[in-house]
Order: sequence, then structure tokens, then C-alpha cells
Amino acid sequence: MSKIIAIANQKGGVGKTTTAINLSASLAALEQKVLVVDADPQANSTSGLGINPKEVKNSIYECMVDGVGAKESVQSTDINYLDVLPSHIDLVGAEVEMVDLEGREKKMKSALKPLKNDYDFIIIDCSPSLGLITINALTAADSVIIPVQCEYFALEGLGKLLQTIKIIQKRLNKDLEIEGILLTMYDVRLRLSNQVVEEVTTHFKQMVFNTLIPRNIKLSESPSFGLPAIAHDADSKGAISYLNLAKEIAEKNEKIKS
Ligand code: ADP
Ligand code: MG
Repeated sequence: MSKIIAIANQKGGVGKTTTAINLSASLAALEQKVLVVDADPQANSTSGLGINPKEVKNSIYECMVDGVGAKESVQSTDINYLDVLPSHIDLVGAEVEMVDLEGREKKMKSALKPLKNDYDFIIIDCSPSLGLITINALTAADSVIIPVQCEYFALEGLGKLLQTIKIIQKRLNKDLEIEGILLTMYDVRLRLSNQVVEEVTTHFKQMVFNTLIPRNIKLSESPSFGLPAIAHDADSKGAISYLNLAKEIAEKNEKIKS
């Protein structure tokens, strides 16, 4: 059975897509079979893994709205063990089209069902919103990773996200867990960065991953090559930190031994 993890935070630019791409590629490097589901109409994790969103015929949108099979829509990548269920811009319309559908919050869960035995991990990259597609992702998921940027207003919006997760646990997915809070774009030289780490760990304690993701240029430039950092520069601090995160998560989920 796959472990399905959604990467969510309605704030934009906190590192959701960077985490989806690089955590997935690092889990794949640990020989875990991984599927990235791109649930953001901006399709950044699709393009960041080397697939041109303009050439995508079947995306998660067709799987959710038109009943196209997920197995037929999955694309392989240049990375071993790593597949993508891509997105394209039409996903923007899905929110509106699904509004009147019965069971509209469970469309992604049903769409992913046929894949549940094909992967060790299914990682869902969410859009910066708490709209219907993100609700679908949180309903389909076993757990959620919340990236928090080590910047001003780091905790802004986090209350609302945690409240949304509580509502989903109550009404749609009682088993949804918080996999962890991930501190991203950490800069050891900045007092602010260190203050955010302290504040978040004091407040959320064990919920925070041991692994910190540093601000690293290789993480921001590798998508322009259509590659995760581990394939672009495996020795970079960014690639190594995501590999550490992958080990932390794979060990916690007993997929690999520590
Ligand atoms: P989100 O998906 O939450 O909107 P992204 O992952 O797209 O956020 O990140 C926003 C921007 O910050 C992107 O340009 C990305 O390349 C950059 N970025 C994300 N994480 C890092 C990091 N650890 N170091 C350097 N740049 C980063
Ligand atoms: Mg994104």
C-alpha cells in the first residue's frame, strides 16, 4: 500500500513544489517507488521534473473530472523509480466544474485508488489555496507535510491551515495525520532565520522535522533544467538536506531501516 503524503500550505512561495520534487526524487534514490501528483494548475512540479505541461494530454484534472484512468495518465521521468501524474492549466477550471458534483471532495481519492498498490509513496504537490482541489488532496492523503519558510510572517496562515486539517479530520478523512512541519529556506547566518526555527520548534515541538532545508541556489536553479537537485548536483547542500528528509520520513514509515 502506498503512503500518500500531501504537501500543503495556502501561502505561496514557501517551498511546497521544491519539497514535492526533491523529497520525491530522494525517496526514489532510496529505491522507493514514488509518484508525484501535481495538484497545482501552475504545473511547476510537472515542468520541474522535465515534462512540458503544454504537451500533457491527461492530467489529474481529467482523472478527477472526466473519469480518465490514473494509470493511463501517469508519465515516467528520467529518474529511476519516479513517475508523475501531471497537471496543466485546465486544473484551474476544475474547482468550478466540481462544485455541483456529488462527492466532490473525494474525486482525487477515487482517482488515485487504482495506483495504491503501485507505489511506496504518493506525494501530492498542492496549490497555494485551501480550495476544493487542496481539500481533495487532504481527503486523499494519509498525512500532510507543512513547509514553513524561515522568513517574516512564517506562522501567518498556519492557524487557518491547522483548523482546515481539523475540519477535514472530522468530516472527510478521520485518519489524516500531520507527517511534520518542514522548515525551509533556512539561512544559518540570519538572526531572523534562527528566530523562526526557535519559535516554530518551541511551539510545535515533535511535529517539526529534524531536517532543516537550507536556502540553496541549486534548489532554485535545478527546475530550469527539468531536474531535481539530486540529479543536477548531488553534492549540493540542498540535495543532501532533502535526502536526509527522505531518510527521516522513510524510517519513520518503516520503509527503510535506520
Ligand atoms: P511553493 O510551491 O510553496 O509556491 P516553491 O517551492 O515554488 O514554493 O518555492 C518558491 C521559490 O523559492 C521558487 O523560486 C524556488 O525555487 C525557491 N526555493 C524554494 N526552496 C528553496 C531553497 N531551499 N533554497 C533556495 N530557493 C528555494
Ligand atoms: Mg508550488
